Amino acid sequence: MVLVGDASAREERAATNQTLFREINERVKELHEGFRLDLPLGEWICECADDTCIDKVAMSANEYEAVRNNGARFFVAPSDEHVWPDVERVTVRTAKYWVVEKVGNSGAMAREADPRTAGVRARLETERAMTTTATWHSPRAEIHHNNDQCATSRRIKPRDRRRGTGERPLCPNCKRLAF
Ligand SMILES: [Zn+2]
Ligand SMILES: [Zn+2]
Repeated sequence: MVLVGDASAREERAATNQTLFREINERVKELHEGFRLDLPLGEWICECADDTCIDKVAMSANEYEAVRNNGARFFVAPSDEHVWPDVERVTVRTAKYWVVEKVGNSGAMAREADPRTAGVRARLETERAMTTTATWHSPRAEIHHNNDQCATSRRIKPRDRRRGTGERPLCPNCKRLAF
């Protein structure tokens, strides 16, 4: 199965593809949280290094979190076709999924690209902005908010939150909540 001779190019390609799939799965997770779906099993996309793979993987939110705790780990559909043994090793085998851990350079690359690091930073910044300023908005909407009980405001994704009014009129929902 190994046809390409350049090991570092393969490492890099694998790390790029896998970190992209991880980002997509992180969005899937946000959607689950946003709609408060307490389903025991979620449908995730296989995080193998093959960018043409479209396999789905079923795992619970807890199982997902356990993999995500290690920035060098990814989950794949449970078979050898989804493993690139020259850049990763299998650390967990279950009937539903396998977990692979990147080795060497690709491990460092995968950890560096972990969206959790950036996401946590953005979230902290948002929280700080929310406590120091009374208004916020999303660049995708024509209104601003000033009440954190506002349902419309709560639908704004953390990464879309901006402090201030953005020179937009106050949201009618927030206006109503003021009374
Ligand atoms: Zn796959
Ligand atoms: Zn509002």
